[in-house]
Amino acid sequence: MEAGASPSSSFAWSLRRSEWFYRCRRGYFLRYYGASGGHDPDADPEIRKLHRLKNTFSSDGEYLDALFFRTLRSAFYDGISGGLAVRAAARLRRELDAMSSGVAGLDHTCPCLRETPDLAGVKRLTTALTARLDAFESGAWRCLAGLPMTRRLTVAFPQRITVNGVPVLIAPALVWRDDRFDLNVLEIAVSNLTVRVALHRFLAQELYSTPPERVKSWRIDGNGELAASDADLRLSAAVKRVMKESSEMISLLGEGQRAAAMDFPSEGDDCKNCVFDRFCQIHD
Ligand code: SF4
Repeated sequence: MEAGASPSSSFAWSLRRSEWFYRCRRGYFLRYYGASGGHDPDADPEIRKLHRLKNTFSSDGEYLDALFFRTLRSAFYDGISGGLAVRAAARLRRELDAMSSGVAGLDHTCPCLRETPDLAGVKRLTTALTARLDAFESGAWRCLAGLPMTRRLTVAFPQRITVNGVPVLIAPALVWRDDRFDLNVLEIAVSNLTVRVALHRFLAQELYSTPPERVKSWRIDGNGELAASDADLRLSAAVKRVMKESSEMISLLGEGQRAAAMDFPSEGDDCKNCVFDRFCQIHD
């Protein structure tokens, strides 16, 4: 492969992708194009390392959000009713062991933190996770765990939908029907809620044939309870954003939809918190 260039992976807009694109073009390139093919054990070692960074978190908060997300999904769709905090703590211990033993560094599917936490860091993570899960388990989980399995609707992670012809990836945590047969969608992330709740309407229409007025969007508040997110629903603003941003992203691709590093300059202003800090100059 030509240095600094890589074939375009199939394009899909997402909030995560948008975040990278407007934070630093080089980071965006490394994540969505430079790491392409890195899942293959026979790929170039540098590409393998880049690929590994896609599942690496630079902050405790992001890592714990992801761990909470995975714990919640597996419990909900496997029909497990209790012991959420215990399951999450066990998962955290396993992942921390994999980080400290070096196993996580060799397995790109194993989520890890950029810096392996020391003893104080482990304690901080465990305390934060347990407090969060305890609140959730005695809050929203009581009603979620009681939902009949037939009302729990599986949704892929990430789920691909289409917004005005643009492929879009979204990652709701849970989807279910309530007793009025309305569709309910829960997200863990709380940024860009206006866009998220709009995308829930496209998801509902495309996957579950449910009209926008029969959809409810939820998040989890600081007390571990469900909180409605859809007070500020602005479908057309969300569609405009997806259209505008996807067109800007695609415009930087060259012939044959190839991405070249030189078209994605290093321009981040928060490099010390970026997982790509050892890689971003390589392609200059
Ligand atoms: S280290 Fe800085 S310049 Fe390099 S990819 Fe990350 S944010 Fe961009």
